[in-house]
Amino acid sequence: MTFKAEYIWIDGTEPTAKLRSKTKIITGAFGGLGTLPVWGFDGSSTNQAEGHASDRVLRPVFSCPDPIRGGDDILVLCDVLDTDMTPHRSNTRAPLAEVAERFAAQEPIFGIEQEYTFFEGSRPLGFPENGFPAPQGGYYCGVGADEIFGRDVVEAHLDNCLKAGLAISGINAEVMPGQWEFQVGPVSPLEVSDHLWVARWLLYRTAEDFGVSATLDPKPVKGDWNGAGAHTNFSTKAMREGYDAIITACESLGEGSKPLDHVKNYGAGIDERLTGLHETAPWDKYTYGVSDRGASVRIPWQVEKDRKGYIEDRRPNANVDPYVVTRLLVDTCCSALEK
Ligand code: ADP
Ligand code: MN
Ligand code: MN
Ligand code: MN
Ligand code: MN
Repeated sequence: MTFKAEYIWIDGTEPTAKLRSKTKIITGAFGGLGTLPVWGFDGSSTNQAEGHASDRVLRPVFSCPDPIRGGDDILVLCDVLDTDMTPHRSNTRAPLAEVAERFAAQEPIFGIEQEYTFFEGSRPLGFPENGFPAPQGGYYCGVGADEIFGRDVVEAHLDNCLKAGLAISGINAEVMPGQWEFQVGPVSPLEVSDHLWVARWLLYRTAEDFGVSATLDPKPVKGDWNGAGAHTNFSTKAMREGYDAIITACESLGEGSKPLDHVKNYGAGIDERLTGLHETAPWDKYTYGVSDRGASVRIPWQVEKDRKGYIEDRRPNANVDPYVVTRLLVDTCCSALEK
């Protein structure tokens, strides 16, 4: 017998990496992640190598059932190595693995809210051929054909994520027509990131069959239309047990060069989205506050009431690399909490 393994990886496109995949036919029965072979690809076609030394290595790091093909077929997320088996410069997973290992005792977990926008041709789904739809107000969590565009795709994507066994935890329609969100987590840093990358791949792949594309563009329509973010909710064991740790984490993110170190790695085009309007804080000013959707970091009201829980970093763009945002948050907050 044979099965199909869809090998998925993150390429080297600047400033925002793209997903790539290709299919390997494997003989025998699937025996677990550790039994999957490494594979190779042409790095000169993905901004990961020069033509004269183009081979790069795909190392399987996560696998799950393939909900598109079904049966015994699987999806295989890989990270990219050079031929000496060291991480390629585009590989952001390897540095996260190190930081997550270093702070594992603090038990950090993440829930990421992935916003995205459907496009049909050059317009967001639901935008008329000429001009604009009615201004924002009724679309967020809306219902009805005058407010909702693409629900059939969203439902199919949700089912595919569940069939794949990903830690998807919810969906909602967003503030701009054609804009949606799904949430992954809360789970460990590597898990939330691996699952989010596979959920993104499934989003593009599911929408493909509907003739629709999905984009993580942080500001798909200029002007008075909401951008797309990836709010990153974060806690450690100490934060889930007491409020002092919540405040320590919020303060640590404001120290010295930290605000800029984070923001400049939170997705290309972040200054276009973090303007201080449309439920954002200005990119060059760090603030935190309870219930404040205009702050960089929000402490949910329930967390203040319970005196424990998690914080929400509202700054990351929809196009952020989850391996990067989770590494930065663990590194900054867990270093401060360790003291
Ligand atoms: P909102 O839209 O109000 O910001 P959502 O319900 O979309 O909130 O997202 C909240 C996120 O917080 C979810 O992804 C959930 O997984 C995450 N979350 C809940 N509790 C924790 C926790 N203790 N640590 C980290 N993340 C958490
Ligand atoms: Mn070829
Ligand atoms: Mn949300
Ligand atoms: Mn949202
Ligand atoms: Mn949020």
